[in-house]
Amino acid sequence: MTTPTKRPLSFKSLVRGFKEFWAGHNDKRRQKSIDYTVIDTLLSGLACMFYKSPSMLSFQERMSKKHHRNNLKTQFGVTKTPKDTQMREIIGSVDSQTLSPIFKEYLSRLQRGNHLKRFAFEGRYLLTVDGTQYYNSKEISCPKCLETALKNGDITYSHKVVQPIISHPDIKQILPLMPEEICHHDGDNKQDCETNAAKRLIGAIRKSHPRLRFIHMGDALYASTPYIEMIRKADDKFIFRVKEGSHSYLFTTFEQAQTNTHEVVLESGNRLVHKWVKGVSLHKSSDIIVDVMRLFVISTNKKTGKQKSQLIGTWATDLDVSQDNVAALVSAARARWKIESAPQAHKVAIKGFIAKCCKAVGKMMVGPSKSAVRGGFQTTPSGCY
Ligand SMILES: [Zn+2]
Repeated sequence: MTTPTKRPLSFKSLVRGFKEFWAGHNDKRRQKSIDYTVIDTLLSGLACMFYKSPSMLSFQERMSKKHHRNNLKTQFGVTKTPKDTQMREIIGSVDSQTLSPIFKEYLSRLQRGNHLKRFAFEGRYLLTVDGTQYYNSKEISCPKCLETALKNGDITYSHKVVQPIISHPDIKQILPLMPEEICHHDGDNKQDCETNAAKRLIGAIRKSHPRLRFIHMGDALYASTPYIEMIRKADDKFIFRVKEGSHSYLFTTFEQAQTNTHEVVLESGNRLVHKWVKGVSLHKSSDIIVDVMRLFVISTNKKTGKQKSQLIGTWATDLDVSQDNVAALVSAARARWKIESAPQAHKVAIKGFIAKCCKAVGKMMVGPSKSAVRGGFQTTPSGCY
């Protein structure tokens, strides 16, 4: 992919980059059946998410109006967009992994423009991973669907991804990397799961960005021995949320230990009280030793003068926690919520994975999951039928 020399990160330039990238791919469809090019259809899919259309149907309704069609032409250079069913089928013919180099290229552009270094934190980059479900149904499924058995004997079929983002506590924007699909793989007897997909992601990210070193962040699910061992092998670090239910030994040790304290007084008068203990075993017999941080917010009722203490969270890290950095580390850990409000990340993820399945079921109404709504887009994967 060639890089435009002028404003390589402008919207137009990013769309152009997408087109140039795709120009190197052959359209394998039968020539006489081609009414719409793959690139125009992919860009229509991207526009569908860019315009925050809640479904493919609402995007199609939007495109039935002339001024919206004009926007599509001006912003994405697309003159003709296929109808719902055909759009799903064409996008469905593209393997989502084909799009992976685009994520790499755009991160490289940030790097070359000296923008990426703004995201540096403790000499590394904060990499948050989180699973999101974008489709579920009891009726419609495909061979790649994840299956969940319900207590009443019913089975729910779903599609999910693990989405990685680079973030910084002081920066509003986030940088999405290529997501990893959580799905049934050919020949696997066991169901795929979020942590397995995240493990694959560690390898994929290292392959795409061999020189970048990360601080992995995620919820308590990731604070497990096998996952942390993979992070160690990759020469990365971590800050993970821990919970009493899954990390009881660590919680007991923390509560019995002599804690260090650091306070920050906010403009509101509220106080952030950080407590931490060094050198705690992750589990009773684990050789993974972590520093544990906990945050309380102390607020004072202006009328009664009564103080209220609220526990915000507990985190485990292999970074060296000290008086100097505890507030920054906790602030980074709390910035993890950004992935929850990162619709662009989810949209890109969903865009890639519409590609995974192949037949349209236009008439079916499928209730969106909360996370997919957050992502701003819900569709039946085209292979589910
Ligand atoms: Zn499926």
